[in-house]
Amino acid sequence: MNYADFYQRSIVTPEQFWQDEAALIDWNAPCTQVLDYSHPPFAKWFVGGQTNLCHNAVDRWCATQGDQPALIAISTETNTERSYSFNELQAEVERCAAVMLALGVGRGDRVLIYMPMIAEAAFAMLACARIGAVHSVVFGGFAANSLASRIDDAKPVLVVSADAGSRNGKAIPYKHLLDEAIELSVAKPAKVLLVDRGLAPMNLVAGRDEDYASLRAAHIDARVPVTWMESNEPSYILYTSGTTGKPKGVQRDVGGYAVALASSMKYNFCSKAGETFFATSDIGWVVGHSYIVYGPLIAGMATIMYEGTPICPDPGIWWSIVEKYKVTRMFSAPTAIRVLRKQPPEFMRKYDLSSLRALYLAGEPLDETTSQWISGELGVPIIDNYWQTETGWPILSIAKGVEDLPTRLGSPGVAMYGYKVKLVNESTGEECGANEKGVVMIEGPLPPGCMQTVYGDDQRFVDTYWTACGEQQLYSTFDWGVRDADGYYFILGRTDDVINVAGHRLGTREIEESISSHANVSEVAVVGVEDKLKGQVAVAFVIVKDASRIVGDEACALLEREILGVVDRQLGAVARPSRVYFVPQLPKTRSGKLLRRSIQAICEGRNPGDLTSIEDPASLQQIQRVLQEGV
Ligand code: ATP
Ligand code: MG
Repeated sequence: MNYADFYQRSIVTPEQFWQDEAALIDWNAPCTQVLDYSHPPFAKWFVGGQTNLCHNAVDRWCATQGDQPALIAISTETNTERSYSFNELQAEVERCAAVMLALGVGRGDRVLIYMPMIAEAAFAMLACARIGAVHSVVFGGFAANSLASRIDDAKPVLVVSADAGSRNGKAIPYKHLLDEAIELSVAKPAKVLLVDRGLAPMNLVAGRDEDYASLRAAHIDARVPVTWMESNEPSYILYTSGTTGKPKGVQRDVGGYAVALASSMKYNFCSKAGETFFATSDIGWVVGHSYIVYGPLIAGMATIMYEGTPICPDPGIWWSIVEKYKVTRMFSAPTAIRVLRKQPPEFMRKYDLSSLRALYLAGEPLDETTSQWISGELGVPIIDNYWQTETGWPILSIAKGVEDLPTRLGSPGVAMYGYKVKLVNESTGEECGANEKGVVMIEGPLPPGCMQTVYGDDQRFVDTYWTACGEQQLYSTFDWGVRDADGYYFILGRTDDVINVAGHRLGTREIEESISSHANVSEVAVVGVEDKLKGQVAVAFVIVKDASRIVGDEACALLEREILGVVDRQLGAVARPSRVYFVPQLPKTRSGKLLRRSIQAICEGRNPGDLTSIEDPASLQQIQRVLQEGV
């Protein structure tokens, strides 16, 4: 099929387009109205339709492929591996749903899931979907105060958790964090359900805490029918990564999400029922929701849930999983691939990767060096895709399942079906022409699968994301980009990160991309720092690949000059950073995104802001140190 026609149909006749797509999933009752956009910017999809995410992910496939693998839970932390067929998954989900019902959870109630990457976390999500409860998954191991604020936001009747997660072979106890969070919170949950992995001691609070294994055993033969949900009832709450500030609570529906996932599995991920999908993310993030748990299962694929790092027990671990389970489609993030690039290549070359058809990457700009390296190693297409927690599925990519359009280095691709993507000039408010930089916006209504609202705060949804532009409502992604004459987009950074050097506006991404083309650069962050003369100057922080080449001040100065030379040649002197600092680590969110705003704040002597989602606070101290020492 011709993608241009396919896309046009989705934009010109969206109701027909999405009605056709709705046939990809099972409905208990069809909708009476495909789209209700009578209260913009709020869009309701498949109004009156009745469906259920768990039915589509699990029950539906029991009928035709009940004995085939559905969920493969692998932990290199505890050295356990277990594959659940669709029938087994259904039984586990029904047990978990029965336990939730017994603990008083009803339709529309919130359940907060604070779990490591173990099968029970997926059971709990699917059990919520089955009984119409709204889950709010919080990344396991988040600090007590972040967890407390999410408890107060969602007001859950139940929290599902575990004794501990594990990282690099070390248990990370959760229970005391959870107890502390509940202590701090106002909306205290009535019940806490705990999976005991035997990794850390747990003190159960009488009357509140319950042991999952015992309750599961008591409901071993439970049958819990699915609750048919009106398409627009909420399915879950999920917070954004907190890269640019305080995370926002995204609320998603049931029917639109199911249809969007079914379509994206077909057109973006070329899914085939019975094959295996491997997304290396975490259930705490949107990729985990859409492409570890719901998407692959809705498409009848087996999905891999992996607890562990990409380099433990050795950097070949992911590829051994690909070989063993004949993974056909894999989904990861550039930051993880950069970690692998620093490892000896023989680890990935040991395995038979012939099952693999494509690697999808999202979450951050994919630099050309990383893209070319991994493409060379794997010999399969590398498909960048750009989207957000808010949208739930790709905004920009290449839908290879529609037409085998070529990818372009440095570009996540073209506008995906359903998204009226616009680039808007911030000062004039006009649409940008080809090769003109602007803010990436989407004209309302947002397609199925996107956020319904900010949980509990419609006004915040309207105020945060939307601008009226004549008759139109425009949703801002808060990313800055440019489109070439063929409709390929290039993301140049966050709107917050745009650097203004003597009147020239530059995306951090442009400078980072250029710096990362130097052979000894492993990772780089560029921020704009206030400057009396120029308004702002770019400052770069670099992690080198080979640290033995920067021993001593002279070697550092030489590498700095080389890097500046690269920028000069590729972008011109205006983009040249005023300094390049070498650091062992860069501050990132737990989802692996660069915290440029905190680096910038430190460079300007300000408070680094909301750090609840930072992975390792020591990375900021290291930046402070190099700034003070001046090397
Ligand atoms: P917050 O909204 O709380 O500041 P966040 O924007 O990092 O955090 P996410 O929803 O996890 O939260 O990330 C979405 C953002 O990640 C996008 O808006 C974009 O900036 C970036 N991003 C995602 N995929 C890509 C990609 N393929 N290329 C470039 N940037 C990407
Ligand atoms: Mg965001």
